[in-house]
Amino acid sequence: MMHGYSYTERRRLLQVHASAPAFVFFNILFIWGFYVSVIRQAVPLLNDAVFSCEVVFLVIGLYSILTSDPGIVTNGSASSDQPLNSSVSQVDNHDEELELPCHESTEGSGLGTRVRYCRSCKAYIKGLDHHCPAFGNCIGQNNHLLFLILLFGFISTEASYLVCASLFAAKSGILDRPSMERTLSENLAVSTILFTILQLVWQVVFVIWHIYCVCVNIRTDEWINWKKYPEFLLVVQPQPGQRFANVRFRNPYDKGILQNVEEFLALRA
Ligand SMILES: [Zn+2]
Repeated sequence: MMHGYSYTERRRLLQVHASAPAFVFFNILFIWGFYVSVIRQAVPLLNDAVFSCEVVFLVIGLYSILTSDPGIVTNGSASSDQPLNSSVSQVDNHDEELELPCHESTEGSGLGTRVRYCRSCKAYIKGLDHHCPAFGNCIGQNNHLLFLILLFGFISTEASYLVCASLFAAKSGILDRPSMERTLSENLAVSTILFTILQLVWQVVFVIWHIYCVCVNIRTDEWINWKKYPEFLLVVQPQPGQRFANVRFRNPYDKGILQNVEEFLALRA
């Protein structure tokens, strides 16, 4: 019952998590509006077409990821491959702030599933990577690829905007004049350029992290919480003189870059 989401429950969740994505959406809209009214006149047709297509792609992508199912485990699909029901009753009996249940390690049920619990969604997600507030959804097995594509989409759109805005800046010579002598729209152009550079910096770092995770086949959630998932624990027997066994990290999912990437791309298929 706990993670069998009905349509209305999902709608409610969507509304709760929609404020940050709404902000992201209005951000895109604002930049787009500013672009059309100020920047566009200084931009060649090709750049204009590329940037416009990217904005349309972002809006569609944002909507798709917001409404996508990251791989929520329902009772039906859980009973088919995993004995989740017994553990659910355990969770029900306890406080919600309880340690994450890590029973659903993948032993015996195929290594592909990797079901983890998301506190924000209060749901079990197949292949949970992290809960993304900006996109208002969990990133799991089903939308991980979409997430990465969208991230690349944001980066390329921002890069395009920077090109367009610098063309505008060069044409109007705003960088040669002190800010006091600029018009409001010229100052806005400078602000949006700085804002976009900032966005680009953290998103590039973020995308590098995710590419690394794909290459070594680990999820962000697993990287943070590996001590809670038994399959990552390698118990090293104590040496003579040591009193306790050491626990080390090992990744049972890492099968080499090529196979890891292949597995990642096959998740959605
Ligand atoms: Zn979530």
